[in-house]
Formats: sequence, C-alpha cells, structure tokens
Amino acid sequence: MKIAVLPGDGIGTEIVAEAVKVLKALDLKFEMETALVGGAAYEAHGHPLPDSTLKLARQADAVLFGAVGDWKYDKLERALRPEQAVLGLRKNLGLFANFRPAICYEQLVGASSLKPELVAGLDILIIRELTGDIYFGQPRGRRTAVDGHFPGAEEAFDTMRYTRPEIERIAHVAFQAARKRSRRVTSVDKANVLETFQLWKDVVTEIGRQYPDVELDHMYVDNAAMQLVRAPKKFDVVVTGNMFGDILSDEAAMLTGSIGMLPSASLNTSSQGLYEPSHGSAPDIAGQGIANPLATILSAAMMLRFSLDQPQAADRIESAVKHVLASGLRTADIYPEGMSAQIPPVVKVGTREMGDAVVAAITKKTTKS
Ligand code: NAD
Repeated sequence: MKIAVLPGDGIGTEIVAEAVKVLKALDLKFEMETALVGGAAYEAHGHPLPDSTLKLARQADAVLFGAVGDWKYDKLERALRPEQAVLGLRKNLGLFANFRPAICYEQLVGASSLKPELVAGLDILIIRELTGDIYFGQPRGRRTAVDGHFPGAEEAFDTMRYTRPEIERIAHVAFQAARKRSRRVTSVDKANVLETFQLWKDVVTEIGRQYPDVELDHMYVDNAAMQLVRAPKKFDVVVTGNMFGDILSDEAAMLTGSIGMLPSASLNTSSQGLYEPSHGSAPDIAGQGIANPLATILSAAMMLRFSLDQPQAADRIESAVKHVLASGLRTADIYPEGMSAQIPPVVKVGTREMGDAVVAAITKKTTKS
C-alpha cells in the first residue's frame, strides 16, 4: 500500500504530521512518500502541482493531503495559485465523488451554534459531484453584452452543465453508500429553474429504481439549506452537484461545531482517493501548534476504509478519537471556555498533544487486545 503524503501550506504540515504518526502506530505495512504541493511547491519549483508531485499521487493508492493556500499568493496569476493544486489533482486523478461526513460528537454538542437537541447524534453524509457543473462548464469568460438589460456593458458568464453518465455514476455512489447506512438518499437540485438539474433529477430517479431498498426523496437547494439548520437530523445521505455540494457541505460542517473535526474523501472509479480535512490552511493560526489535527486524522481513517481496504484499522482510529474526546482533551477550536470544572475536566491541548493522545489510545487498545 502506497500513500502519497502532501502536507501543503500553513497548518497543513502540522496536522499531517499527526495523521502520519497515527498511521504509523497501527503497525500496518505502508509505504509513505512525501512531496511538496501548493504554495510550498510554488516556492521550490515555480508551480503548485509540480510533475514530480503529480506522478507520486498517480502511482499511490491514496493521497493524504493537508491544505494549501496563503493570502500572500492572492496576487499570483490564477494558474499558479496554491489552490490550483487541488483542482489539478482532482482532474488528473479523475476524483469525481466527494464524501463529506458531518458528525456531531456527543462531547462537542455544545460547540455547535444550533441548540443541542437539534444536533446531538447528527450523522449526515454529503456526497458532492466534483468534476462537472458550473465550475468546469465551457464556455466561460468575460465579454461585452449584446443583449439583456444592459447591452454594451461588460459581462461575465459561466456554463452549468452535466452529462447523463456523470449523474449516473454519482447517483450509484450515493445509493451504494446509503445501503451501508440507514438507506435514505436526498437528492438536492434546482429542477424548478435549471435544465441541468431537471436532467439531474430525472437521472437520479431512474437510477433509484435499481435500489428499491433505498428511499429516495428530492429537495430544492434553497429548501435543503433551510432544512439543514431547521431539522438536520432528518437527512442521512445527501447527493448533489458540485456547486450546491460546495455550499451545503460547509453549512453542514458548521452544524457540528468546528471545521477542525471534519474529514473528507474524494474518490475515482477505481477507489483511488484523496483524503483531506474539510478546512483550509488557516494561515491565521499556522506555526502556533494549536490547530486541531482530528479532521486530518479522521481523513486518514476514511483512507483506510475506502482506498486501502482496512476497515478495522479505520474503526480503531475513529474509536481512539472518541476516546480522546471523552477523556476531556480539546484543541482551542473546540474548547468551551469556562468548562474546565467538568468531570472529567476539559483540558486545552495543542496539535501535537492531541496527536499523541490518539496514538496512545490506539496503542493502549492494541496492547489490551
Ligand atoms: P480555513 O478553513 O483555512 O480557516 C477558517 C477558520 O477556521 C480560521 O479561523 C482558522 O483558524 C480556523 N480553522 C481551520 N482549520 C482549523 C483547525 N484544524 N483547527 C483550528 N482552527 C481551524 O479557511 P480560510 O481562512 O477561508 O482560508 C485560508 C486559506 O486556505 C486560503 O488560502 C484558502 O484558499 C485555503 N483553502 C484551502 C483549502 C484546501 O487546501 N483544500 C480549502 C479551503 C481553503
């Protein structure tokens, strides 16, 4: 099993180091090779996704990715900005299915901005199509308007498009994922206004007939955004397009309290995948040793489950994380001020201590068993 380790920028290097430590504690046979990506790769090689990094990612069974980006690169031409590395990896590896679980851990219910009763036990899986939609549709650009309300004015335009096979394959992914959970899929669209999403709805409905054991419902995206904050526990698997998924998965992430807890996986048709936390490089806290490494550690668990066929090892990491939270350890982003008097006491720790605690929980359990 070969893992390409791409820490990237900002807190990326700090959190990936902890995930690597956890993977090593499992005593499985991995080959791990590290390469530069994002701003760090631009500094060293003049490109955010150098050929050598792409080659390593292609050869690996899975990519463990930290985060890329820093405000200091905002003035670079678009093709050289760190974030382009993520798009390049998605495109080159054919990563079309993005899994973003939003789980509210029992111990962190108070960290959500919603009432505890709305989020306690929350466990949603958002499946976002990653390679189509308005983000990639052509033509796009700027021009002078020839019609509309202001002919002659400068205008910008993008093209929303989906082909039937693109919708079919993401629908299959969603129905199959639902079979491993509580067999419910909500397909989110805007079929009342957009042709693209009328096709989406038609195709998802057709594919749904092949999964009679899975309940399918459809929801317009505006309603879905509302229901996510009104009654989030009504959802199980949510499948949607690239742009709606981008927005709804961040909304769902925040229901759980901290983006520092949320892993993600992006998969291609041969289960090769890129695993990364749902957050960015957090330049505001980089280098301080206070970032929460749990989203990256949980991404490594998803990697073991989806790409490396090691579900038991994935379970071990996930139960170690729960154990560490239950023991009261919190990084600053999930630390409830004024709660240290609880039993067990809630203790604020840094990135490295949190990683060490997960390793200790894993090795302790191994020794016992
Ligand atoms: P961000 O996710 O990096 O940070 C948002 C807020 O959450 C910040 O206050 C940050 O301190 C906090 N935060 C994020 N991760 C945390 C963690 N693990 N522990 C504790 N706190 C955490 O988003 P942003 O500030 O909008 O973007 C910063 C940079 O990251 C930008 O350059 C952006 O383009 C890039 N970015 C990269 C990716 C990626 O690599 N896939 C994704 C999103 C943003």
